[in-house]
Amino acid sequence: MDLGIRDDELATCVACGLCLPHCPTYRVTGEEALSPRGRVAVMRQVQWDGAHPDASFAYSLETCVQCRGCETACPSGVPFGHLIEPARETLADGVLRHPAPRPLRLAVRSLRWHRLVLAGSTLLALAQRLRLLPARLSRRLGLPARLPLRRPRLAASGAGVWLFTGCVMDAWMRDVHADAQRVVEATGTSVALPPSGAACCGALAQHAGMGREARAAARRTMAALPGDTPILVDSAGCGAMLKDYGHLLGTPEAEAFGARVRDIHEWLAERMPDITVAVPDAERPVVAVQDPCHLRHVQRAHASVRTVLAPVATLVELDDEGLCCGAGGAYAAVQPVLATTIRDRKLAAIARAGAPLVASANPGCALHLAAAGVDVVHPCTLLARALTDR
Ligand code: SF4
Ligand code: SF4
Repeated sequence: MDLGIRDDELATCVACGLCLPHCPTYRVTGEEALSPRGRVAVMRQVQWDGAHPDASFAYSLETCVQCRGCETACPSGVPFGHLIEPARETLADGVLRHPAPRPLRLAVRSLRWHRLVLAGSTLLALAQRLRLLPARLSRRLGLPARLPLRRPRLAASGAGVWLFTGCVMDAWMRDVHADAQRVVEATGTSVALPPSGAACCGALAQHAGMGREARAAARRTMAALPGDTPILVDSAGCGAMLKDYGHLLGTPEAEAFGARVRDIHEWLAERMPDITVAVPDAERPVVAVQDPCHLRHVQRAHASVRTVLAPVATLVELDDEGLCCGAGGAYAAVQPVLATTIRDRKLAAIARAGAPLVASANPGCALHLAAAGVDVVHPCTLLARALTDR
């Protein structure tokens, strides 16, 4: 059965196993079928050997967090994202008819209507205040403990760069966008805000195996952000997705669009000399840096977060070599046991680091860690607090 994977890419794995310690699902289960090597093996069995894609095949693929930690560990250059994404799409949407859960599909499809996302988020915030939403359900849905009832109003200041604001992050964490805009403007660059067509990058759809929806979101986003103005992204997951439109759509236009995208820390790291920040020694926070997988393993831009934070915080490194925290799109909602077990390893690393505050450049990781009681802040927020022109 054709899983939609390129045979030359499926052939790259030499089964050496060097990726196994870097795979969160293997680390917490010890099961070969839940390792990168095991997943490549079952994909080969189905695509090459005619094996029936049974429930164990589905489980092997659906439990993958899609963190791509295996890619950076692999000496053979296995492009694991290029394998798992079409395989998950075939699983979810193709002949196997093994879709993502219906509530997840409905939620993902609604993301293109940003006003609906904002209104739904406000209703959930009200339900939280009125104690109509049990805290347990709130956690299961991955909601912040206190959704915002009001959001700061963002206003464009020019056309120097686009600041991509996205869907869920704009509804739940717009204060981070406001901080990101302030630090970009502190470099002397004006900021344009996207129209509603760029309301969602499609990453959550892609992660859920909903390839059609992901490609539609990509086309809408590209149409909404024409020209050659750089596009800055303060969410690691969205940035990785936007950069990958060339692969997703397979067109020169999508390739050119992806080349315009920068993680905001990548862009800021080159301009830190232009920013004036001041933090009194007594107020300098001690911060552990959590590397989102889509920044470290996919964009490979995690060093820039340290460059950006170094002038304003005392940084502490985690000792887990960037192992995933278990957030992964909607993973915490659809695989709650594995997501929690994986997160426990991250919590232990944070505890060993001994910093009271954790900086994370991805909203999904931030929410997942905050749900376990971790005090998490976006790097742009820390930087904005230290701007001297506030
Ligand atoms: S994915 Fe890479 S590291 Fe893992 S077993 Fe295959 S070749 Fe080895
Ligand atoms: S993407 Fe992450 S969870 Fe999936 S096989 Fe690779 S390391 Fe494991």
